Amino acid sequence: MQLYNTLSAKERAELIAQAGKERLTISFYKYAKIENPEIFRDHLFLTWDTLDVLGRIYVAHEGINAQLSVPADNFNLFKNHLDSISFLENVRLNIAIEHDNFSFLKLKVKVRDKIVADGLNDETFDVTNKGIHVEAEQFNELMDDPNVILVDMRNHYESEIGHFKNAMTPDVDTFRESLDIIEADLKDHKEDKKLVMYCTGGIRCEKASAYYKHKGFKNVYQLEGGIINYVRQVQAKGLENKFIGKNFVFDERRSERISGDVIAHCHQCGEPADLHTNCANEACHLLFIQCDACKEKMENCCSTHCQEIIHLPYQEQKALRKGQGNSNDIFNKGRAGHLPYKKDLRNIFENFKTTNSKV
Ligand SMILES: [Zn+2]
Ligand SMILES: [Zn+2]
Repeated sequence: MQLYNTLSAKERAELIAQAGKERLTISFYKYAKIENPEIFRDHLFLTWDTLDVLGRIYVAHEGINAQLSVPADNFNLFKNHLDSISFLENVRLNIAIEHDNFSFLKLKVKVRDKIVADGLNDETFDVTNKGIHVEAEQFNELMDDPNVILVDMRNHYESEIGHFKNAMTPDVDTFRESLDIIEADLKDHKEDKKLVMYCTGGIRCEKASAYYKHKGFKNVYQLEGGIINYVRQVQAKGLENKFIGKNFVFDERRSERISGDVIAHCHQCGEPADLHTNCANEACHLLFIQCDACKEKMENCCSTHCQEIIHLPYQEQKALRKGQGNSNDIFNKGRAGHLPYKKDLRNIFENFKTTNSKV
């Protein structure tokens, strides 16, 4: 049994380019009781490997969370396979808005404790008591309701490049952090307001809505299928699009453009920009927003320090990295102090509270 990738990312990319065939970027999740995640993992890997499916999949006792690149030619076989698994029959598939054949270059199916690293202790609340799921049309109506508080359940580097109009966008690095901040801010409105939440594909809201109901919020709503499904519905049904900017995604594409608005700024010069870059210095890899001009000037680096390092001979770079591990900046996702134009969203959040009468 071969349960690993035999090709490197580069070799895979070359094969995909040679094949010249369209691939679909698809995501889905399902909370379901899986007795033996290891066996399920092996089954998925072996089946999907033969279908040339690539992606990142997490399997746990609580369910599955999958982000995939599927050859369009094999879509029906892939779908038939999903339908043959009882708890995945007719599961909602979120299909990406922008096509990219290179969204994933490996197939990785991992067994985890949880399918989202949400930091919650599920034993302490009823995870099945979720909020009301709403589709795009009803979501738009709710956005016009003065009794609604709209909350973005994603992290700062996601909402920075795009979000729904008038949404609260907590300046957080983690999902767990946002839960407490939002609860503290809205503690006086647990009964009189409608708490409406959204995330990328809907999975984070599945737990968040149950958590807030447990915390005493009476009217909790969540966007079914998240931003990805919303945009699909807006396009299919000709609805008004209330999402501005880009939707951050967790594959090689990094984002999908939803509206023409550029709401973020280059972290180095402050000009309008909304394209994320990973610093070219392998020991840094900071994820930050960089405009085309700075990209060229800085050679994809976040600082002149990193720029100096990438010009060293490779062996020397490697020697510098030795024993150091990765820079903490990788995990800061654009929070490095040397980026003068990284917006402090904490202030925006504070401003939101004082200027928005809804809260
Ligand atoms: Zn710039
Ligand atoms: Zn750097």
